[in-house]
Amino acid sequence: MEATKKHLIFDLDDTLWDFQQNSHDTLLDLFDAYRIGDQGIEVARFIEVFREINNALWDRFDEGLITREVIRKERFPAVFEKLDIHLNGVAMQMQDSFMSTCSAKSTLVKGVKEVLTKFSSTYKFHILSNGFDEIQSIKIKAGGLEPYFDKVITSGRAGFRKPEPEIFDFALNEIGAHKEDCIMIGDNPFSDIEGAFKYGIDQVYYNVHKKACKITPTHIIDDMSELMKIL
Ligand SMILES: [Mg+2]
Repeated sequence: MEATKKHLIFDLDDTLWDFQQNSHDTLLDLFDAYRIGDQGIEVARFIEVFREINNALWDRFDEGLITREVIRKERFPAVFEKLDIHLNGVAMQMQDSFMSTCSAKSTLVKGVKEVLTKFSSTYKFHILSNGFDEIQSIKIKAGGLEPYFDKVITSGRAGFRKPEPEIFDFALNEIGAHKEDCIMIGDNPFSDIEGAFKYGIDQVYYNVHKKACKITPTHIIDDMSELMKIL
């Protein structure tokens, strides 16, 4: 990459902090704690249905159709309904356990630690996340990311969310950088990549979910270690 890029702006969930793995591990914990197996449900099926419902809700959130509150209220009841699980009144309790247990998990996306270690003296690292300070800071600490990052900008604090240009403005203002000095690295083709593209900063699309991107990103990687070749 040309030497002018001084600031690497990372998305958090599934770009740095492995939401897929951490939520999988959390669902295993919940499956045991709430004895879901006693309802005749296989653990793999429980996780599969949660993913289906959770992903569909997050897609609707990304399109601006529902709020985060709706996701939190609806996902476990929807999982229970789909699997015909009868645990009266437990869905909201499970939701609370899911949130507190998951954010305290520490698994990072494969290759992230190597990239951070290798380039920490070359670039400044920042996080730009559609999330809330409180929850995201727990994940950042749990994952041991804190020492590497300069600014952490969340939609909760900015009052805007990716792909809205205002949140990129907010971030660059806080970082104190120009567009041409920054690159956005993220796994969401819409909020991270299209958002950064439309705002006018270069992008690295971490294409882990194999989702089509409407624009042609500056770079596409399948593995975080490929970032080593770009930087
Ligand atoms: Mg993400």
